[in-house]
Amino acid sequence: MTRSWAEPWKIKMVEPLTMTTREHRESEIGEAGYNTFLLRSDDVYIDLLTDSGTTAMSDRQWSAMMLGDESYAGANSFYKLVDAVRDVYGYDELIPTHQGRGAEHLLSQILISPGDVVPGNMYFTTTRFHQEYAGGRFVDVIIDEAHDPRSMHPFKGNIDLAKLASIVHEVGADRIAYVSFETNVNLAGGQPASMENIKAVYAFCRTLDILVMLDATRALENAYFIQQREGGYADRSIASILREIANNSDGATVSSKKDNLVNIGGFLALRDPDLARKARALLVAFEGLHTYGGMSGRDMEALAEGIREMVHTDDHVRSRVGQVEYLGNTLLKYGVPVVTPIGGHGVFLDAAAMLPHLTQDELPAQALAAAIYVDSGVRGMERGIVSAGRDPETGDNRHPNLELVRLTIPRRVYTQSHMDVVAESVIEVCEHRETIRGLQFVYEPDSLRFFQARFEQIPV
Ligand SMILES: *Cc1c(COP(=O)(O)O)cnc(C)c1O
Repeated sequence: MTRSWAEPWKIKMVEPLTMTTREHRESEIGEAGYNTFLLRSDDVYIDLLTDSGTTAMSDRQWSAMMLGDESYAGANSFYKLVDAVRDVYGYDELIPTHQGRGAEHLLSQILISPGDVVPGNMYFTTTRFHQEYAGGRFVDVIIDEAHDPRSMHPFKGNIDLAKLASIVHEVGADRIAYVSFETNVNLAGGQPASMENIKAVYAFCRTLDILVMLDATRALENAYFIQQREGGYADRSIASILREIANNSDGATVSSKKDNLVNIGGFLALRDPDLARKARALLVAFEGLHTYGGMSGRDMEALAEGIREMVHTDDHVRSRVGQVEYLGNTLLKYGVPVVTPIGGHGVFLDAAAMLPHLTQDELPAQALAAAIYVDSGVRGMERGIVSAGRDPETGDNRHPNLELVRLTIPRRVYTQSHMDVVAESVIEVCEHRETIRGLQFVYEPDSLRFFQARFEQIPV
């Protein structure tokens, strides 16, 4: 008999949800310009917009917040955070920021000179923005399988070493600012890199004096997949695998709103004290003093506790990813096209496969996210042509291979029954897929357009 698992926590406090009618949701999505980012949360039933900052904190984290030291300089809470990052990730130099993009900004400014190339595995919206903003050119060196939603490759987040070697050869190692290595690649669907690949990339870069900077925002979930899928890691603890990932890098940017189990916060971690000094000089201009960055003392307390809690036992990450897999496998069972293998933080619906009557320029993923909201009040988000934006040189829309709706699961917030409700809604929308109409822009912001763009249905 297969034995079920359950969440390794029980509920101490509850937050009531709002139920709405279909008529209400139809009117709200029109008001929101068919952009789920522009809905009010009161009009949402199950909110799978993002797993960013939406975590439920533990009783230990809430009680740690009472110990927050709000001293402007040298706060005790900062030193607790330094210790937690050193103990769990092994980085000595900690630069606290308000969230991940604050760290990306600092890192890009200290390492990228105009005209430099930054190779990376796929891309992340804010990461690439800061790399380009600093004058760099991002080059995607992820393996081809990552762009194929059907590929069952167990490590679709891997860097293609031949692609990396070729761009290094083309521009020269001194024009490579650093290699930007994202763990559990968000836009590929939460897909991990193997330890073998992480080590090989680091070894290759060391021979050429190229720095490897992790986007370690989701390194915990990556560590879980290494434990599950890579030879030799089944008996290793998540804590030790995470540490081994970090050991194969020169530093990391982290959005603590994901793995680290807090609602706000982030950091840049480095090994080289000279680089850290440069980052701190910018930190005081853009974020705050070097012992708080963009966080209050209580934020740093909750974060230090969250970092320790995420690896305290392996049960946390097993149930976190297990819940995502439960939703994904239910959808697969009913024939809904989703990105496989199921990723670490969400289920990615293949909108291109689901809505073949729409061209990519008719924004199928944006339209599908709106249709699911209207059906049930479940809020997901677009990850396709709208998120990919325009090429800064030509001004043309980028046409990514992946045209997805992301249903992202917040940590420790929803139960298995919520996942059933979500699955039933998606299955029902899928059954009436041919009624979903394409969308067109009515307002398009210049950068990171998916957050605030407005759309209307294409007239028939
Ligand atoms: C969320 C995220 C970021 C950006 O972090 P913010 O805290 O939202 O600024 C960067 N990289 C990855 C992989 C992320 O998931």
